[in-house]
Amino acid sequence: MRRVLLAKPRGYCAGVDRAVQTVEVALERYGAPIYVRKQIVHNKHVVAALEQRGAVFVDEVADVPEGGVVVFSAHGVAPEVRADATARNLHAIDATCPLVTKVHSEARRFAAQGYDILLIGHEGHEEVVGTTGEAPAHIQLVDGPRDNASVQVRDPARVVWLSQTTLSVDETIETVGALRERFPMLADPPSDDICYATQNRQAAVKRIAAESDVVIVVGSRNSSNSVRLVEVAVDAGAGAAYLVDDAESIESAWLEGVTTVGVSSGASAPEDLVAGVLEHLAESGFDHVEEVEAVAEQMVFALPHELRQGKSGR
Ligand code: SF4
Repeated sequence: MRRVLLAKPRGYCAGVDRAVQTVEVALERYGAPIYVRKQIVHNKHVVAALEQRGAVFVDEVADVPEGGVVVFSAHGVAPEVRADATARNLHAIDATCPLVTKVHSEARRFAAQGYDILLIGHEGHEEVVGTTGEAPAHIQLVDGPRDNASVQVRDPARVVWLSQTTLSVDETIETVGALRERFPMLADPPSDDICYATQNRQAAVKRIAAESDVVIVVGSRNSSNSVRLVEVAVDAGAGAAYLVDDAESIESAWLEGVTTVGVSSGASAPEDLVAGVLEHLAESGFDHVEEVEAVAEQMVFALPHELRQGKSGR
C-alpha cells in the first residue's frame, strides 16, 4: 500500500501567524501601502500574497518614504534599525516574534554583566544580524561545531552561549559540546533559545523519517527551520528528503519505487501548500494519509499592542 505519513505539528508557528496577521491588520487599519522591512516571514508564497494586498517589501528603512508605516519582520531587528526608523519619522510596528525578543533581552543582560556571548547561528541570517546588533562588542558568531577554534574570549569564567531560534537541536548540542571542551565554565542560556516550534517540528519529522522512503518538506530555501527539517529527516533515517516550495516542485523521479512518503512543513509554510502536496501525492497513488503527532501544540501570541483593539489572536 502506498501511503503518506504526515508529521504533526508542522507549518505555521505562533510567531509567523502573528507576523502575517500584523501586516494584514496594518493594511486594514492604515491602508496600502504598508512597508515591510525584509520578508515578513521566509516564504515566497506568503510574501507574494501580501504584496497583492498592498504590502511593499523593502531591504532597509531608508527605502521607506518619510512618515510611512513600516513593519519589522518576525526575525527581529538591531537597535540601530529602530533608531533609523525614528530618524525618518516612520510609524514602526514591530512583528518580531516574542521568542526572538527574549534572546535579544538575554544578549543585552549578559553583555551588561560583562560576559562574552557565543551566539550559535548561521552567518548572515536576519535573526543573527538583529541579535548581534544588541551588543556587537560582546557577541561572536559560532556557525556550527567546526567553527569554535577561532573563538577568543576575554575571561573564560564569563562566557555564555545563546542561539538562533531555528537551529537543529542535535547539531547545537554538538556545537555546545565542542565549545565546552575549550571553555569548561561556559554558561547555558536561562531557557532554551531554540524555540518550541522548531523543536516540535524536528521531533515530529524524526517520528516519520525512519519509516519513510522519501520525506518532502514544504518551505522556502531561505527558511532556516525548513532547511533544518530536511537535514533532520535524513539524519533520522529517511531514504531521501527534499525541500519544496509547493506541489509543482515535486519531481516524479523522487516517487519511483517508493511506498511511504513522509510530509512536513516549516514554520513559515501555510497549510494550503501542504494540502496541494497531499493532493499531488494522491494523484500519484499515495492516497492513504496517516497523521503522526509527536507533540500537542497550542501556542498563540497576541498581536503587537497597537493593533490589538478589536482583534484577537488566530
Ligand atoms: S520559528 Fe520560533 S522563533 Fe521563529 S517565529 Fe516561529 S515561534 Fe518565533
